[in-house]
Amino acid sequence: MELPLLTVTSPLLPDMEEYQKLLQDIWSKKRITNNGFYHKELESKLCSYLKIPFVSLFTNGTLPLITALQALRITGEVITTPYSFVATTHSIWWNGLKPVFVDIDPDTCGINPDKIEAAITPRTSAIMPVHCYGIPCDVKRIQEIADKYHLKVIYDAAHAFGVEKDGESILKYGDLSTLSFHATKVFNTVEGGAMVMPDEKMKKYIDYLKNFGFAGETEVVAPGINSKMDEVRAAYGIANLNKIDQAIQNRKKATLAYREALKNVPGIRYMEDMPGVKHNYGYFPIFVNEKEYGMSRDALYEKMKEANVYGRRYFYPLISTFSTYRGLDSSDPANLPVATRLANEVICLPLHHDLSDDDISRVIDCIIKR
Ligand SMILES: *Cc1c(COP(=O)(O)O)cnc(C)c1O
Repeated sequence: MELPLLTVTSPLLPDMEEYQKLLQDIWSKKRITNNGFYHKELESKLCSYLKIPFVSLFTNGTLPLITALQALRITGEVITTPYSFVATTHSIWWNGLKPVFVDIDPDTCGINPDKIEAAITPRTSAIMPVHCYGIPCDVKRIQEIADKYHLKVIYDAAHAFGVEKDGESILKYGDLSTLSFHATKVFNTVEGGAMVMPDEKMKKYIDYLKNFGFAGETEVVAPGINSKMDEVRAAYGIANLNKIDQAIQNRKKATLAYREALKNVPGIRYMEDMPGVKHNYGYFPIFVNEKEYGMSRDALYEKMKEANVYGRRYFYPLISTFSTYRGLDSSDPANLPVATRLANEVICLPLHHDLSDDDISRVIDCIIKR
């Protein structure tokens, strides 16, 4: 008998009855989008849950990245990481800007601050790092460099829902941060996303930009776009927020089980908690050293698939290797040795709120039994 399919993630779904009640209310109010009741309520609930001053909901996690670059009037070149989901770099391209790839730090998988200064030119106007796997970038060093060269910092924090460093939200660093609430993320609204900003003035401007630039019935203050979240998904988010703490706790339990089982397996590296950081346990990447482990990453990946265990090679291939970006000088693999190595070593193991002990054992067996 074939074992049931284990996927890398499974969407967190709100309680159906609770969600239905909210939907009934939306039906009775007959207000289904355009900054409605649930849109406002989810924004307010997210501000308190995430301990952030201001947030603006979006229809996905890509449009806040594109909009952030617009809002800060970024020009020329943007320094970024190749070790991410393609949307990070695409947002730069969609603004007619040039992405400049900088290598990553093997301990955080985020951009390596030591390599940023060498990539700065007179055309550089921003840095777009990613809190990869929800692990905080070296935010202090990045800010120091940004201050020295008068650069803006936009964090792609798509993975960093609920992550805190020294008791403060990681989303408060930089000029703006963006979140994704896609089905595959720790917290989801089916599709969805948000931008986190430091002050009310920016919040107002972003709210205009995500609604065509409208600042009132007849006034358009900027060439905006339509990227606002509707009531149906905002209500879904409110119901899902009630389940998020338990979901993260379950993810943590699975993470600890993986670490315990894999701690003495030669050639398998994984990431530990960082001191002072509250993690969200969104991903469990392992890095396979072929020589020490005795099997290549891809061979292990295929072997897992044969056992119906589907990990994902996040982030392989590197963004810099896709045809659109391959031609850039900074895409040369010689410029990106760490990112290139990790992209060839990584498998993210199945990790979500609904993983049973048996599921975890099945994953571990694939890696240990040879
Ligand atoms: C998921 C993701 C995005 C895009 O979010 P969508 O909601 O799918 O548009 C952007 N950046 C990173 C790093 C992501 O993982």
